[in-house]
Amino acid sequence: MPNRTRMIAGNWKMNKTYSEGVTLAQELSNALKEAAVSGVDVVVCPPLVDLKGVAGVIDFDKAPFALGAQNVYWEESGAFTGETAPGMLTDVGCTYCIIGHSERRGYFGETDEDINKKSKALIAHKIVPISCCGESLETREAGKQVEFVVNQIKADCAGLDITSGDQLVIAYEPIWAIGTGKTATPEDAQEVCGAIRKTLVEIFGEAIASQIRVLYGGSAKPGNVLGFLEKEDVDGALVGGASLTADGFSQMIQKAAE
Ligand code: PEP
Repeated sequence: MPNRTRMIAGNWKMNKTYSEGVTLAQELSNALKEAAVSGVDVVVCPPLVDLKGVAGVIDFDKAPFALGAQNVYWEESGAFTGETAPGMLTDVGCTYCIIGHSERRGYFGETDEDINKKSKALIAHKIVPISCCGESLETREAGKQVEFVVNQIKADCAGLDITSGDQLVIAYEPIWAIGTGKTATPEDAQEVCGAIRKTLVEIFGEAIASQIRVLYGGSAKPGNVLGFLEKEDVDGALVGGASLTADGFSQMIQKAAE
């Protein structure tokens, strides 16, 4: 049985100003230290303008979590107004970056091809992509969720140059369960996460794929997270709403440490 360290990642989305973000990071650091949580990799992904402030808390307080961004562009620099290069994220202390979130695919028209380029650029800069995938309600009702997500993984991960499983994280987030209060069942999550793992084996081989963390995301909260984590191919959670308070998020992390 592969020994994958569980991961709980918080996606703050477009919430928390700079000062609110610094406060939340400090509160989370305090809560995790007080609970002496260990054995779980924790990542927080604040808005871009909060990154430097949260990095300061991590540095000065030795906060027990890593820093992630919510998006990146694949070019190194240049005339791409409003975009952020991977090297800029590294420079402020990011070691993870969410890509391919369904909100970016849906509202900003991101394609699998874009996501593949972003992953390649991040990996080249030693930033771990948290690469999101997931089906719509329509696709699930048609019973095509596995086929759909497997095709996303094949397109998003094609040609990625990784030599170990800790260079990539996948987040399975059924779109119909994000921010809606509707959760997939642990069995729904395992069905798709198991298929994701098999696809990763086809792409990267067993040794690497067995070490890649596959997270579940979609209305995960302290009361339901353990049900997902107990499934064989679910190695953690990507958390939106419930990551916005130090209390709720640290409770989820403590559950993952159980
Ligand atoms: C997300 O958007 O990544 C997410 C999982 O959101 P929520 O937990 O709020 O459903």
